[in-house]
Amino acid sequence: MKYISTRGASPLKSFSEVLLAGLAEDGGLYVPQEYPHISASQLDQWRDLSYPELAFEIMRLFIDDIHEPVIRFLVEKTYCAENFGTDEITPVRRLNDGVHILGLSNGPTLAFKDIAMQFLGNAFEYVLTHQKKTLNIIGATSGDTGSAAEYAMRGKRGIKVFMLSPAGKMSAFQRAQMFSLQDENIFNIAVDSMFDDCQDIVKAIQADAAFKQEYSIGTVNSINWARVMAQTVYYFKSYFDITGDNDEKVSFCVPSGNFGDICAGHVAKQMGLPIDRLIVATNENDVLDEFFQTGVYRPRQAKDVVVTSTPSMDIAKASNLERFVFDLVRRDPEQVKALWAEINTGKGFNLSRKLKAMKNFYGFDSGKCTHAQRIETIRQVWADDKQVIDPHTATAVYLARKMRQPNEKIVCMETALPAKFDDTIKEALGEDFAVPRPEHYVGIEDKPQRITNMPNNAVAVKMFIKENI
Ligand SMILES: *Cc1c(COP(=O)(O)O)cnc(C)c1O
Repeated sequence: MKYISTRGASPLKSFSEVLLAGLAEDGGLYVPQEYPHISASQLDQWRDLSYPELAFEIMRLFIDDIHEPVIRFLVEKTYCAENFGTDEITPVRRLNDGVHILGLSNGPTLAFKDIAMQFLGNAFEYVLTHQKKTLNIIGATSGDTGSAAEYAMRGKRGIKVFMLSPAGKMSAFQRAQMFSLQDENIFNIAVDSMFDDCQDIVKAIQADAAFKQEYSIGTVNSINWARVMAQTVYYFKSYFDITGDNDEKVSFCVPSGNFGDICAGHVAKQMGLPIDRLIVATNENDVLDEFFQTGVYRPRQAKDVVVTSTPSMDIAKASNLERFVFDLVRRDPEQVKALWAEINTGKGFNLSRKLKAMKNFYGFDSGKCTHAQRIETIRQVWADDKQVIDPHTATAVYLARKMRQPNEKIVCMETALPAKFDDTIKEALGEDFAVPRPEHYVGIEDKPQRITNMPNNAVAVKMFIKENI
């Protein structure tokens, strides 16, 4: 399996190259040359596999340049009870009203990003050691992505992480989660400014090609193909968990931001997994709902992004959408290039005819959920099921209940645990409500923290990186 860019102007790449590169040289996203097709009998053989066995079977179809015993080693090291709490890794549960919830957030940082990021950490370490290279990852975070990256890369040979965050702007829990890491290869930099400034510093460093080259600077953003690949596994796993045979269809409802999670569902469906609908759940920042309802994609300005109780879905544009649009335009890179050129001039594009014609084939649908609806859903699920769900997951449960058709089986992705969003849970369930917290996080706010405070200045950050690698 080789990889091509959605914009058509990058040479064919192997898996390891795509893993380390992230974005393609022509500005596009890497996708496999074609999706492997899984036959019905192959699906039958996979039905009873454990999570790591299934991950191995799926990933070996996408990885062309790492020996199979090594792939097996990497998935077994990643997908174990020690990292994810149970041997099931992603357990499915059923609410009283029949909607299913897929537990994707039992990893080290209590959000679904761990599932792909933990694999990435192990894959990076192997590939870098093998190629005798090192990598210095820089990133900016306002919460989830930074912690998932740090917990995935901590203690890994050949890798250092420099993570910028806005000083004093994250919750006490989020700060403690990142800043209490004492690993020598993890550097938390609290910038005396806002998140956007942190991101600008990262962009400035990325734009300095000489610096990037000399100090082996890289990133781990959500457009990395390996993350999408790793996420396809739980679509298969949960499908097998709640069906009796392959004649049944299952729909998925996915709290979406950058379109990475649900893009993995799209890949799984194209591989032949009997998925009915892929429901894109958005919050008040509804650029994706607008696209799937009208065919018009109209990225917002950063200043128009609304801050909500679902911060991980507060986006102006959805980077991974380019992978789906590439398929929608029959994998014509010239069209993708033209469409994104429109976007870069501040306009959007309109694919309503194509989207309508292909609606059943791709199965995408969408909906939007407001803060009041999330709060109400958190209350309902607590009242009916004595379960606490996080506000992101609540967007999916709200829409699954609203959009469900008779006899449709819907799986909602649980993309974070409520412990990460204390304030919203208390708003829904009462000030005195004791939000459940996994044992290893009890008292984390009291642990010693290791951070460097810096001014809002890219040169100062560069100096710090130089001194510490
Ligand atoms: C990242 C994230 C999302 C959005 O996932 P995408 O892959 O960006 O669509 C949803 N919920 C939570 C809690 C997240 O951390």
